[in-house]
Amino acid sequence: MQSSFIPLMVPDLRDEDIESVVNVLKSGMLVQGKNVEELERKTASYLGCKHAVAVSNGTATMHICLKILGIGPGDEVIVPAFSYVATANVVELVGAKPVFVDIDQHSFNIDSRKIEALINKNTKAIIPVHEFGLAADMDAILVIAEKYSLYVIEDAACALGAKEIDRFVGTRGLFGSFSFHPRKAITSGEGGVITTNDDELARKCRIIRNHGIEILNGKMEFVDAGFNYRMTEMQAALVLSQFSRIESILETRNGLANIYYRELKNQSKLILPCIPSNKKHTFQTFHILLDQNINRDQFIDKLGVKGVGSNYGAQCIPDQVFYRNKYNLDSNKLFPNAYRAYKQGLALPLYEKLSEKDIMHVSSVVKELLHD
Ligand SMILES: *Cc1c(COP(=O)(O)O)cnc(C)c1O
Repeated sequence: MQSSFIPLMVPDLRDEDIESVVNVLKSGMLVQGKNVEELERKTASYLGCKHAVAVSNGTATMHICLKILGIGPGDEVIVPAFSYVATANVVELVGAKPVFVDIDQHSFNIDSRKIEALINKNTKAIIPVHEFGLAADMDAILVIAEKYSLYVIEDAACALGAKEIDRFVGTRGLFGSFSFHPRKAITSGEGGVITTNDDELARKCRIIRNHGIEILNGKMEFVDAGFNYRMTEMQAALVLSQFSRIESILETRNGLANIYYRELKNQSKLILPCIPSNKKHTFQTFHILLDQNINRDQFIDKLGVKGVGSNYGAQCIPDQVFYRNKYNLDSNKLFPNAYRAYKQGLALPLYEKLSEKDIMHVSSVVKELLHD
């Protein structure tokens, strides 16, 4: 791989994964059948939660949760200022207002100490994000949620398998939300899963993902105005096949991340991601911060010229065109850590197909450019 271009991410799809999709195609049952059911059982048993509901993507998971909770116009939802933009978009999509909180500069996760000051009588929910595969500070967030009776929807889109002490993320809030987009550790192409321990909420999720359909007395009834957010059998089979390797995938990713730590430590012009000792990082993204004096976009271009794919890690959401136009917030001033992570952050290649030599090569190119 070393002589050619090293992309930021390539899913590790094996022959058996591909074969499982072909088998679905041959079966004739293409949407929400036994593979979807199996994926839901597998997810719930892996995470140790009561219910898992598979849907068409990670954004749909959160849209469904907000919809079911009746969150809408006049309501406010607390979200981190730094995440993938979908975390705030879903709040907009139900007509509620996202209220942004700055992140902690070391973990890239919502700064739980800054949440309480933003809560008012309109606040209905908090969506903490386990950014890049590192658990957010759930103990503190759950205490605040309890105190003010707020719903907690964990955006664990990029954090399947991440743990805080021995608890998986996505199992402590009212809902957990996961994505199987190709940028995540295991993929269905597009896909997502909602997790919850609440029977009634799980039932509502199933109804609303499928046109509002519920089977009552053996008869199909349309009991709600639902979405079509179903997952296909091809998607479910593809991700199920990788799911059986999840522990080894996460171990491989951690091993590769460790090589980055070894190769890039003690560089004065960059900051490496932190791993608190009580948390298990899944390194969906290996995200570093470049010194303020380095032009990050040029750095990405230069890496590209040298055969290394990279990108910024996530957005400072209030600084994106839609949010800037609508709320006119000065992100640099109000959310300095989120703004800096957005402007100076850099995601480096990390996936199972890379070797130790590949990571050493990427690291040496990064170091060379740092000293340019
Ligand atoms: C990937 C991601 C999403 C969106 O998931 P999709 O499956 O692409 O809709 C939302 N939030 C975070 C934090 C993500 O990383």
